[in-house]
Amino acid sequence: MSFTRRTFLIGAGSGVSLLVLTACTIDPKPDPSPTPTRTTTGLVPAPAAMERSAWGDDTLARGSVSYMAVGSTMEHREALGSALIDRVFFAGEATSTTNPGTVLGAQLTGNRAADEVTAASDPSERIAIIGAGAAGAEAARVLALRGFDVVVIEARKRVGGRVATVVATDWPFPVELGAWRLSPVTDGDVIAALEQLDVSTVSLDGAAQVFRSPTGETDSDPVSSTAMSTALQWAQGQQRDQSLDDSLDQSGALQTASEYSSGEVLGDELLLQHLASLATIYGADGSELSSWFTVDDTQPSTLVTGGMTRVVAESLEGVETFLSTTVVGVSYNERRVSLRLGTGESLSVDRAIVTVPLGVLQHDGIDFDPLLPFSHRTAIASLGMGTVDAVWLRFDEPFWTTDAVIWNLVGTDDLVTTWFNLEPLTGEPVLVGLVGGDDATRFELLNDDELTAALRETLAPFAS
Ligand SMILES: Cc1cc2nc3c(=O)[nH]c(=O)nc-3n(C[C@H](O)[C@H](O)[C@H](O)COP(=O)(O)OP(=O)(O)OC[C@H]3O[C@@H](n4cnc5c(N)ncnc54)[C@H](O)[C@@H]3O)c2cc1C
Repeated sequence: MSFTRRTFLIGAGSGVSLLVLTACTIDPKPDPSPTPTRTTTGLVPAPAAMERSAWGDDTLARGSVSYMAVGSTMEHREALGSALIDRVFFAGEATSTTNPGTVLGAQLTGNRAADEVTAASDPSERIAIIGAGAAGAEAARVLALRGFDVVVIEARKRVGGRVATVVATDWPFPVELGAWRLSPVTDGDVIAALEQLDVSTVSLDGAAQVFRSPTGETDSDPVSSTAMSTALQWAQGQQRDQSLDDSLDQSGALQTASEYSSGEVLGDELLLQHLASLATIYGADGSELSSWFTVDDTQPSTLVTGGMTRVVAESLEGVETFLSTTVVGVSYNERRVSLRLGTGESLSVDRAIVTVPLGVLQHDGIDFDPLLPFSHRTAIASLGMGTVDAVWLRFDEPFWTTDAVIWNLVGTDDLVTTWFNLEPLTGEPVLVGLVGGDDATRFELLNDDELTAALRETLAPFAS
């Protein structure tokens, strides 16, 4: 089963079907309108600046984060992270079994790969690290500290990978198009590193949120987390893994949620927005996410406002790093590793750590010779690569009146329904929208003008 905003409501039971049908009824005799109707876009001024990501379309990422697809297991992540005859090692968020899909998870795998290399070699060896993201940078930092001769090869003209900070004069602070949200509970080490580097963050502790539908609003959502935990708990007792959507449906959680309403906001609309918000973390919809391994964690926490890339760049201080250099092939035997570069040159090293994203491996971005073992190929095929995109909008002045920091749009077909209002936190009229899963794919198809127009419509319910 797969829920779209429309089928979800129809699938939720007869009462809700009725509601959808009622909403679609056309008034046979509309009143003539004396003045032209104002389009909602007119309520929201054009933004003074916009930055947006397109990770699905990025050939050096092919997505934003790895996720547990239905049927995948943690053994797949472990298999992906296992070394090839102690010559080629793997790191990167997708190989993390404890914190996949995060900066911390990537750093931990970089650390693990550095330990594996250390155990297999002696410090006079030359080690190549493919990729200058959080995993590659951490592996490089540790190995350089241990005296290895380290070279980092990065295809982009910048370091950071999916940590992607944009610094521009028309923005009051750095814009983050990649990782940006951290949890004080699980990401304590990253937050501590940012503090040490004097990189500013803002806390979302106690930040107000609002759930606004075209017909009303509420400031709390007491149903969707309960529905999710009911479904996930129910799924644990099933013979096989299945999608989150199926578990919500078959456990009865969807039906229970659909019986709730608060003001004009309905329980199943809240649940649908909860799934959209989850998609901004995993990059996948409920129809794709495993019920056995998905953790329902949409709780916002700390936002980085002082430039997240610093944590990666700092680790690479003093390490030989080649930018704009793509590795297209990795050949290995029991004595050496040879890297074929996009330029046609090759580089021979003692060992290599591959940290390219799962999406790149899924798209055969690197040729391995000999072929990767079956366990690696199974892992690459089984794990999911999801897409999350961000859009940052700066306005000359706020057009909104709410002080809420987290805005959720419910009961709409809009693409971007999860928003952060940075004005109460920073004093700057900046809104950040996040979108994940299929909506992110559609988001990337819009050009800047189309996206701006769509977002001005989307944000109209917040205009004073
Ligand atoms: C929009 C978005 C939001 C996110 N939000 C959060 C968040 O809030 N909190 C959080 O903790 N995490 C978040 N993440 C996830 C986090 O960014 C990643 O888990 C982490 O940065 C991955 O690091 P990595 O080193 O594994 O991979 P990457 O950062 O992707 O590094 C791999 C590097 O390899 C390079 N590369 C690829 N192919 C080649 C090649 N053939 N040759 C040479 N180099 C190559 C790439 O350019 C890249 O620099 C988010 C990610 C995205 C995209």
